[in-house]
This record gives sequence, C-alpha cells and structure tokens, in this order.
Amino acid sequence: MSKFEHMNIAPHEVPLEDELKQLLELSAEMHHHLCPRQVLGVRVGLLGMELLGFKKPVRQKRLLVLVETDGCFVSGVQAATGCSVNRRTLRINDIGRIAVTFVNVKTEEAVRIAPQIDVRQKVSDQMEDAESRRARYMAMLQKYQVMPVDQLLKVERVKLSRPVSEIVSRPFVRVDCSVCGEEIINERELTIDGKPVCQQCAGKGYYELI
Ligand SMILES: [Zn+2]
Ligand SMILES: [Zn+2]
Repeated sequence: MSKFEHMNIAPHEVPLEDELKQLLELSAEMHHHLCPRQVLGVRVGLLGMELLGFKKPVRQKRLLVLVETDGCFVSGVQAATGCSVNRRTLRINDIGRIAVTFVNVKTEEAVRIAPQIDVRQKVSDQMEDAESRRARYMAMLQKYQVMPVDQLLKVERVKLSRPVSEIVSRPFVRVDCSVCGEEIINERELTIDGKPVCQQCAGKGYYELI
C-alpha cells in the first residue's frame, strides 16, 4: 500500500487547475515573481490541508504550520494554507530544509511533507543534457505544477517533540525581565532563581552589545 492510500489521497492526484492557478497568483503577488519553490510551497500546502482535513480559511487557528526554511517556499505555503507569521499560525524554524509539518492544534495530529528526494532529477531526466539553466528552471516551474502528488512529495506521520501548547504559547501573557526590565510576551521568558529573565539576559541571545 502506498503511503498515500491509507490517508485517503489518490496517489496520482494533481490539484485542480483553477485552484492551483489562483494560489500561484496569490503567492507570486506576495513575491513579485513566480518560481519553482513557490509551486512546491503551494503543492505542499494543499496536500497538508487535505491530509489533516482542513479547508481554507481555517477557523480559530486550528492549524499550525511549521516551516523548515524561509524564502520563496513560504509564500507558496502561506497562499495555500492562509497561515502566516502575523496570525501566529505559521512558524519558521530555519534549518534549511524545504519541508513543512502541519499540526492539528486540537488533536496534535501531525504530518511532515517534503519534496521527494529525487524530484529535481526527475525533471532533469526528461531533458537534453545541453539544456540551459533557464530551460531547467522553466521545466521545474511547469512540472512541479502537474506532477502527480506521490511523485512530487513524500509524507511522514510525525509526533512533535514538545507539546503544541508550548510551541504556540499563550498570547497576551506578559512579564518583565528581572534583569533588563524589558517586557517579554507570549511566555518566552526563562525562569532563573524563581525570577523571569529574557533569553538575552539569560545568555541565550542572538546579539552582543558593542
Ligand atoms: Zn522565488
Ligand atoms: Zn532581559
């Protein structure tokens, strides 16, 4: 049985042309151009929504989208899911992988979706060796739109390493850092000797004062 069958997805499925076109336009609008990674983002987004049984727009922040890179790919994911950083429904943990984990916030059910490892090769194999870089780029842009889902993407059922409530945190909670006095929102403080401390003052910051 293919990985897709027990998820009620036809493995050869391709997205509806109109829907895909509309989402690619939305993605390109955020981006001022359309590129292969945005197509991957839209296809990954559509599949993630389908596997977890969501339809756009997702109400009440029931879907959390964890993206493993920044850049063009995210625009596609955002267009397909409606999730975004500013709505606190999309998070980027940039580990440089073109992949997304979709989480049902209520049930914690999660699926991770990434392109098939040989997806670029599959496109290349159908081309002459002499084709230019530009031609390869255009081929990817086209092929990623029409490739059957099981050839384009791989799906893994996953379990998050920490509770989704901790990842999302409670919004509107605020405390003051006991060292620098700056406000810390969304439960991002650490507790040292029983007192709230911001990450920077706790020595886990991303900058140094000069
Ligand atoms: Zn791009
Ligand atoms: Zn501080």
